[in-house]
Amino acid sequence: MPKGTNKHDPIEGTSGVRSRNLDAPTKGTDNDNSNSITSDPKDEATGKLLGFDDLDGEEFDDGSFDIASVTHRATESAEEFVRKIWEEGWNVIHHTHLPKWLRDNDFLVEGHRPQLHTYKECFKSVFRIHTETGNIWTHLLGFIAFITVTVYFLTRPTIEVQWQEKAVFSAFFAGAILCLGFSWIFHTVYCHSEGIGKLFNKLDYCGIAILTMGSFVPWLYYSFYCRLQPKVVYLVLIFTLGTICIIVSLWDKFSEPRFRALRAGVFIALGLSGVIPAMHYVITDGFWHAINFASLGWLVLMAILYISGAVIYAVRIPERIWPGKFDIWFQSHQIFHMFVIAAAFVHYHGISKIADYRLTMGDCLAEE
Ligand SMILES: [Zn+2]
Repeated sequence: MPKGTNKHDPIEGTSGVRSRNLDAPTKGTDNDNSNSITSDPKDEATGKLLGFDDLDGEEFDDGSFDIASVTHRATESAEEFVRKIWEEGWNVIHHTHLPKWLRDNDFLVEGHRPQLHTYKECFKSVFRIHTETGNIWTHLLGFIAFITVTVYFLTRPTIEVQWQEKAVFSAFFAGAILCLGFSWIFHTVYCHSEGIGKLFNKLDYCGIAILTMGSFVPWLYYSFYCRLQPKVVYLVLIFTLGTICIIVSLWDKFSEPRFRALRAGVFIALGLSGVIPAMHYVITDGFWHAINFASLGWLVLMAILYISGAVIYAVRIPERIWPGKFDIWFQSHQIFHMFVIAAAFVHYHGISKIADYRLTMGDCLAEE
């Protein structure tokens, strides 16, 4: 893992560039380093050294020229200029220095990325330490893990996994990959600009709805394997509710900090709609059958993980209790991300178990 926060960066303190940036709150709001390069008198000398101007023009109050001093300053500034570029030209900033649209969680005090303007800078920031590093990597690693599992599953020989199984599981894999993919990309480009941040934020929310819908497909398919009607009814139900969630997510104000609890509530409600088919199964087949053959236990564990994650997300613990102590690691959003990954793998395990059971049962006519 790379290092380099304003607190822990070994370069910090040795670089005038960094400390000057940190001490300049007005620059911090937009962090436009192109301004700071030309506004500093030393940097004017850099421009001259680089051929932007003529060094002969340097004249002092008494009318004399001090070539040695100018050369010294120019050399110093040239070094500083190079260092600025080497350091990628930006530094983490305080929450209050963020533009309004980047202010989401005021319990995270230091270590925020400034607005980065280009996708290139945003993607390079994946390898630096700031408040979003943990959010990016938790779902980037989950994204890679799910792609690996998907490739493994879909490339099994047909004799081992039939194409129907591959198709049904693919709905879940697609949901997981899209959700985790939208999420890590959103956390990466969130600071690009207000419009791009909002757009990817909406995709991030849509991803949660897509993962929930995709998760229901294999579970309903195997739980109601020989019962077409409830299977279709519940699939239609979850796709209708999921679509409503997506429409709500596309509402412009949905991503505002004041709707944090509403967001958590909407996605918990979508997931909990699974209680209806689960109750149906328990009533028709009995509780123990549901536990043993419909992975009810795994489903309940998954629900507990998702709900715990959503509640932690909504209440913003631990940073609410200790503001500024979890700016970089173990903030609520990272914990929420880890719960999502754990829940998705628990679900994968659960549906694999039901699929195994169904496939050893033979076809429906033989069972009925
Ligand atoms: Zn997130």
